Amino acid sequence: MLAELEPDLVPVVDLHGRPLSPCTMEKVEQNLRDGLARFESGILHLNYRPLAYRRIYRQVRQRDGLRCAWCHGVGSTLEHVIPICWGGQTSLDNCVIACRACNHSRNNALPDQFIAWTGFRPTHPVIVKILRDQVGALQRAQDKLQSKPISACTSKEEAQMWVSYHSQDSNWVDPLPPNQPQSRFRADAKPFLEIFLP
Ligand SMILES: [Zn+2]
Repeated sequence: MLAELEPDLVPVVDLHGRPLSPCTMEKVEQNLRDGLARFESGILHLNYRPLAYRRIYRQVRQRDGLRCAWCHGVGSTLEHVIPICWGGQTSLDNCVIACRACNHSRNNALPDQFIAWTGFRPTHPVIVKILRDQVGALQRAQDKLQSKPISACTSKEEAQMWVSYHSQDSNWVDPLPPNQPQSRFRADAKPFLEIFLP
C-alpha cells in the first residue's frame, strides 16, 4: 500500500501502526510543530487515535439514526454536547447526532446557551442528562482532560486541545459558563484545523 503513494505524500499511521490517509510534508511539519505526532523512518506516527473517533461516530449513528438531537431535522454529523474545546470527550455519553446547521451554528456554546438562543427543546437522553447538571459535567470534562494521556485523544481537535491544556503557556480559561458564545482559546490563537481522518 505504501508503494502506491504519490511521491509528495507522506505515509501516516496511528498509535498501533495502522495506516491512515497519507498527508503532505506541510501537514507533517504542522503536526510535529503542534506536538501531535512523531516522524520516524519517513512515516508520520500520530500521537492520538482517529480510528476511535470513527468507531464512536458509527456507534452514535447506530444508536441515534440520522436525526438531529437539537432541531429533530435530518442530520449526520457527530456533535459533542459538552464541546471538545470545553474538554468534552468523544464518547457515547457526550455525543449525539446533529445536522450541519445546528453543529456549526452552536460552535463552542454550551448546551443551555444554545437552547436559550434557539428555543429548541431537546429530548435526547444524553443532552437531558447533561443539562440536569451542566456545571458538574463541565467539571468532569476538565478533570478527564487533566488526567488522560494524549494517546486517549480521538481527533486532531481534541489532541490540539490536550496540548494546549497541558502546555506551560496554556491558553486554557477557567470552565465557567460564559454569557455569550466564545472560544476557549484566546482570540489570537490559531483556529482548529480539519479533523485528520483516513
Ligand atoms: Zn439540527
